[in-house]
Amino acid sequence: MIKTQISEIKKLLSTPKDVVIVPHKNPDGDAMGSTLGLYHYLTSYNHNATVIAPNDYPDFLKWLPGNDSVVIFENQQEKSEALIENADLIFTLDFNAFHRSGDMEKPLEASLATKLMIDHHQQPDNYAKYTYSDTSMSSTCEMVYNFIEMLGDLNKIDSKIASCLYTGIMTDTGSFRFPSTTSRTHEVVGNLIAKGANNSNIHNNVFDTNNYSRLQLLGRALQNLKVIPELRTAYITLSQEELDEFNFKKGDTEGFVNYGLSLKGVIFAAIFIENQQEGIIKISLRSKGSFSVNQFSRAHFNGGGHDNAAGGRCEESLQATIDKFISILPQYKDELSQE
Ligand code: 5GP
Ligand code: MN
Repeated sequence: MIKTQISEIKKLLSTPKDVVIVPHKNPDGDAMGSTLGLYHYLTSYNHNATVIAPNDYPDFLKWLPGNDSVVIFENQQEKSEALIENADLIFTLDFNAFHRSGDMEKPLEASLATKLMIDHHQQPDNYAKYTYSDTSMSSTCEMVYNFIEMLGDLNKIDSKIASCLYTGIMTDTGSFRFPSTTSRTHEVVGNLIAKGANNSNIHNNVFDTNNYSRLQLLGRALQNLKVIPELRTAYITLSQEELDEFNFKKGDTEGFVNYGLSLKGVIFAAIFIENQQEGIIKISLRSKGSFSVNQFSRAHFNGGGHDNAAGGRCEESLQATIDKFISILPQYKDELSQE
């Protein structure tokens, strides 16, 4: 983001505005942390800001400061549409194409508000007047920290903003272990702790609030884990029947896909989760090294994301989806057998 844009944004923000802040559909820790972090920053300047999430998000994020102020589009459509129509500014965070906001796509497209994008996914669309896009970033939360710094306002970061931003950096970096974690990421995280993010409590809130049935579901997922050693690939399936058996709730399968990747030698992991209500198989893909799951998902499963973490979907049955996956894999034999 260049200096002239920053000074224009500073000017825009110099008088109170009606602001809408949007995360992607099925918001994760980075999406909710970045939107709520920005929300606290903007409200400290007396802007009338509202986070509108396309749909609900997991309970392990509901402790985030400002959670009670979040409007869920799916549950409060009229109110959301009025807020969007009335907005002077719309920030879209942690996504870069309107269709990633689900049913908010049309109202966002129709809105005349000035749009600002802050995001770290590949291939951003060109809808925003101000685009801060950097695919090398660990998380959108790290970028919101940079954004606040560029505006000369690091001193405005209080414990609420710090807790929100810490959460998203932590979840998007797999607790600071993925290659996107840099010395700068640790510097930012160190500053956030200094400003009041209680790191130990945040880890507890996000990772240690399992209930028994979720752990049982993980047990089933691990039993279903299949490995294709010659292609260094592992995948997990969960049918709707299995999800129902273990009382599945949103967020329960978060992180399951990583177990495949923890197997020695495996560099490509997938999970296929049946969603009967939407009539789709939701797919999560993870890789280690240079095999791009973003490209794989864009090419075959109507999705995208990052090089090492992407999502996608398939409208066929669970079995047909897996058959399709297995039949495609040999095309990537060379890439998957590389170190
Ligand atoms: P997850 O597997 O956790 O749902 O998503 C992994 C990453 O890919 C996240 O950064 C997420 O935002 C992105 N992602 C998930 N699904 C899609 C999709 O359908 N399209 C695109 N472009 N990105 C996705
Ligand atoms: Mn993210």
